Amino acid sequence: MLRIDGTEGEGGGQVLRTALALSIVTSTPIHIEGIRGKRKKPGLQRQHLTCVQAAATVSEAEALGSSLGSLELKFTPRKARAGNYRFSIGSAGSATLVLQTILPALFAADAPSTVQVTGGTHNPMAPPFDFVQQAFAPALLRMGARMELQLLRHGFMPSGGGSIAAKVEPCPRYQPIELMARGEAKPWRARAIVSKLPDDLGARQLDALLDRFERRRLKFDATKLERVEADDAGNALLLELPHGDLCDVLCAFGERGMRPEHLADRIATEAMILAAAGVPVGPHLADQLLLPMALAGSGTFRTVEPTLHCTTNARLIERFLPVAFTFAKDDDKGAYRVTCSPRS
Ligand code: ATP
Repeated sequence: MLRIDGTEGEGGGQVLRTALALSIVTSTPIHIEGIRGKRKKPGLQRQHLTCVQAAATVSEAEALGSSLGSLELKFTPRKARAGNYRFSIGSAGSATLVLQTILPALFAADAPSTVQVTGGTHNPMAPPFDFVQQAFAPALLRMGARMELQLLRHGFMPSGGGSIAAKVEPCPRYQPIELMARGEAKPWRARAIVSKLPDDLGARQLDALLDRFERRRLKFDATKLERVEADDAGNALLLELPHGDLCDVLCAFGERGMRPEHLADRIATEAMILAAAGVPVGPHLADQLLLPMALAGSGTFRTVEPTLHCTTNARLIERFLPVAFTFAKDDDKGAYRVTCSPRS
């Protein structure tokens, strides 16, 4: 069994999810200790437990230690199986992160699969559904991995109750990617999502964002207020920055007492950092592309300064696959180059 220290590097949920995904696709039994050891509340929380259960289901694995709060897991997969799957987190834990965990297994299966995951669809510190659909899926498609995604119902903190669905095609071979420059710039689009809160809140967030971009004379296409049905009150401001056949999706969440202008400032600052660096891959897509890139055997992209999340993920992937990642500063405008090469 490959032993994994869950407290290493960032010591969060990503170590578990990457280890589960690679355990299945490389047929490597794993023993993880100190799961999420650097988090305030360590161990398997509902989202992580659902990731373990989903990974076990799609690979007919034996999973010892798969209970709420568990700090240790022994996971022995059999083979990735295509199927029609449904998983429910039972809280606002991120549905997209559960999907992310089992996607490599489903791409490795020999027939198409469908998956439905119930939980949170728009959570702080996790990919919002829109990011997975508009940023992650097109980048995967560039590597030859095809899926179709649908948002069935929005789910916010604290109870979730949202639902996402995916149709996943088998991908016997990933193509290496090379993402060095942003594609042809297209106008930016903003959306404010509002559930069980006054419309005015979203409208003020959009006005504030528009104001910040108009002052900088940026090509801005459209703003849209989306009133959605969900179990809880929720609010998110999303900014899409399409370029070529790829897209950045930035997201910030409204909190009680937070001024709309504050939310707009956060998103605008993130957008300006990406635009100034002129890189095709944002910080979150960067850490999520490492795994498929390693399965392709090689690849390279330009991004902003890699996060601890990203470097932790790289070091873990290197333990499963014969690849090596390098992270190098590429210019003085904030760009970095991430390269995955075969390890001899
Ligand atoms: P923990 O509770 O242990 O911190 P977790 O399981 O909730 O962990 P992390 O280990 O922090 O999650 O991983 C979060 C994942 O969500 C990362 O892949 C990160 O890139 C992604 N993510 C976070 N925020 C965004 C965002 N705004 N857009 C896209 N992806 C995001």
